[in-house]
Amino acid sequence: MSSIKSPSAETLKALETVPNMYLILSPDLYILTASDLYLQATETKREAITGKHIFDAFPADPNFPDADGVKNINASLQEVLRTKKPHHMPIQRYDVPDRNHEGEFITRYWDPSHTPVLDDQGDILYIIQLAINITDKVLADMDLEKAKLAHEKTRDSLKSINNELIERTYSERHFRHLADLVPAKISNALPTGEVTFFNKLWLDYSGLNFEDLRDFGYHNMVHPDEIEDFQKGLTEAAANGRPYESEMRFKNTDGEYRWHLNIVSPILDEDGQIAMWVGSTTDIQRMKEEEQRKNDFIGMVSHELKTPLTSLSAYLQVLNSKLSQPDESFEKTAVRQAIKQTGKMTTMINGFLNLSRLEATDTHINKEEFNICKLLRDTVEDMSLITNTHRITLQPCDSKIISGDQEKIGYVLNNLISNACKYSQVGTEVNLSCEVGTNQVTVSITDEGMGIKEEEVSHLFERYYRVENSNTISGFGIGLYLCAEILKRHQGKIWVESEYGKGSTFYFSLPVA
Ligand code: ADP
Repeated sequence: MSSIKSPSAETLKALETVPNMYLILSPDLYILTASDLYLQATETKREAITGKHIFDAFPADPNFPDADGVKNINASLQEVLRTKKPHHMPIQRYDVPDRNHEGEFITRYWDPSHTPVLDDQGDILYIIQLAINITDKVLADMDLEKAKLAHEKTRDSLKSINNELIERTYSERHFRHLADLVPAKISNALPTGEVTFFNKLWLDYSGLNFEDLRDFGYHNMVHPDEIEDFQKGLTEAAANGRPYESEMRFKNTDGEYRWHLNIVSPILDEDGQIAMWVGSTTDIQRMKEEEQRKNDFIGMVSHELKTPLTSLSAYLQVLNSKLSQPDESFEKTAVRQAIKQTGKMTTMINGFLNLSRLEATDTHINKEEFNICKLLRDTVEDMSLITNTHRITLQPCDSKIISGDQEKIGYVLNNLISNACKYSQVGTEVNLSCEVGTNQVTVSITDEGMGIKEEEVSHLFERYYRVENSNTISGFGIGLYLCAEILKRHQGKIWVESEYGKGSTFYFSLPVA
């Protein structure tokens, strides 16, 4: 300890009992004494600190490497030593050693100030450190601050829950109102399939209340012929997250089945998971009846046109065989052209006849067992005989007996080969192949023609659909539709891969046995 001037023993004694928290330091910062209240606040004894350097008696808390109490107190003391003027510090955290637990510290917050006491010559005799222990207040303030923050957080989340609730209630009400306004039957279901809502039109159509319609009404109303496809479609929609669209019949209160366009659409959340299902079911009975009338009309017209056309063709054939003119004579050429044109007309009329027959409700698929490879070979042979514009070839293929309507599958093949020729340059090749798998056979027809744009592909198999620039080539856009319908009725599939400007490959597959 320093031997520089020090206060008298009486002064120190007097300071010890002052009812405040004082530490008396020598000018070289050794502890001369401390007031009783200071000792209490720092939980120490006078003899444990007297004679020690302030920072030996009160070292920094090693548990808080960032604590700057020592540094700040020292800076304040140096300021006092330099200026010989009192210095008041801002609130300091300065933990004190826990005398009962070796190495541990007790949290303390202080309001410290340093006041120098000068002797007659104006030199510092000692420094009084007044350190008011405000730990309780600071901790209480901190708790208050924490409580305030927690309160604000709770209030904010309550507010957002409330807003969400208002929004949900509003949008739910809005949705229900809208669902009752649209001229369609609307329903809502959970991802599990449990229906949560039927709009008014559904309830009116079924004559049931919500619970009855939900629990046993809906499936009873679906026409038995459509239940299986409907369930399959729903399973697929659930697996790929895409809407399922189908035409199906629902029974009304009079027990009458009416055609509807049924769209079941999954609504996905941000993670791409199904959040709910929305169903829209529109009555298309009138449209269907209208369509049927149109089909019947087309069927009737085609039928009526076919009769005179068949006799016309027959007369032309006879005339051709009876004409004794040389081959290159005008008469011979004209009759040949007339035969060719009647042939074209017959093909077109047959297309319409097939369409109306296929769409008639009593259409039957006459299943029989036949060798698909033989059918391919025969068709290629027949088509090659009447086609001198393209080379029609067939890759070697294994014999395979399948069950189906041979005539209709033959129509599909004819149609795809005719199209391949129709939509490609004269002199190019049309190549067929057949791949026999365990469960299915896949037939492909590849051409080197104009190809199809990607955006057109999904429409090709629709009724009356024609690609825009194919208008110069005759046709009605029913061939591919008929092929797709025939294959559908065989539980088969048709699809196309095409490169615009380069060519296309049409595929169809049929189940084996
Ligand atoms: P159509 O040939 O009478 O117009 P289809 O239903 O057979 O009717 O074909 C529909 C449309 O598909 C055609 O108009 C044509 O644009 C296109 N298409 C069909 N086959 C091919 C093909 N092999 N290459 C390019 N386009 C084709």
